[in-house]
Parts: sequence; C-alpha cells; structure tokens
Amino acid sequence: MCNCAKIHFYDVDFKLYGMKVVPSCKNCGDPLSEDQASKFTKDLMKYWGFEEEK
Ligand SMILES: [Zn+2]
Repeated sequence: MCNCAKIHFYDVDFKLYGMKVVPSCKNCGDPLSEDQASKFTKDLMKYWGFEEEK
C-alpha cells in the first residue's frame, strides 16, 4: 500500500479492474489506502464530469 506523504491527483494512476477503479500511486506503483482512494475517486468523478449537483 502506498505510503507517500503527499500525492496529487496527477500522481494517481486509475487502473480499471472489471467495473472497479483502483487508484494506484504512480511514484511507488502501490494501491492507495482506502482514505486516499475515496478522496481521489471523488476527484476522478469531477474530472470525468460526474460532479454531484447541489
Ligand atoms: Zn506512493
């Protein structure tokens, strides 16, 4: 699991396993922790234009 202190959205590699997106760190190649993953998955949804409407 990734232990990098700081990761930016553009350091994250989103790998697709079937229907599941698994965010991985480009620096170390390891999957992100659950906390990091949930954060970056939200960012990815925004990036793809699936931002939640308020
Ligand atoms: Zn890392």
